[in-house]
Amino acid sequence: MENCLFCKIIHGEIPAKKVFEDEKIIAFDDINPQAPIHILIIPKEHFASLNEIPEEKKDVLSHVLLKARQIAREKGVAKSGYRIVLNTARDSGQEVFHIHFHLLGGRKMLWPPG
Ligand code: AMP
Ligand code: ZN
Repeated sequence: MENCLFCKIIHGEIPAKKVFEDEKIIAFDDINPQAPIHILIIPKEHFASLNEIPEEKKDVLSHVLLKARQIAREKGVAKSGYRIVLNTARDSGQEVFHIHFHLLGGRKMLWPPG
């Protein structure tokens, strides 16, 4: 996808601090972390948001979640706790229109979110 920031990260055209990669997804540090651990996990296939993921691609969603759990374990926050955020469309505050899951941990989270 041309002019997509996260597609450019996937293709190595923009640098990122990668923490995990396989054939379907990559995970990298958020450039503006909101917690001691703030990692973005994204499918390599471009979808603008959850709204655009077709039924037949649903496996990538569970794959992302299970890898998020693994990364949380590896980063030492599985027991203390972590939050996974999936902003979708305007009211959520989504700014990058390539679906991405935020994995946040290492501090106490607030509820409700802003
Ligand atoms: P969202 O508001 O859910 O669309 O989140 C977009 C996230 O992407 C924000 O947390 C940004 O800090 C993050 N971000 C933007 N540009 C980059 C980049 N080049 N590398 C890593 N994270 C980025
Ligand atoms: Zn993209």
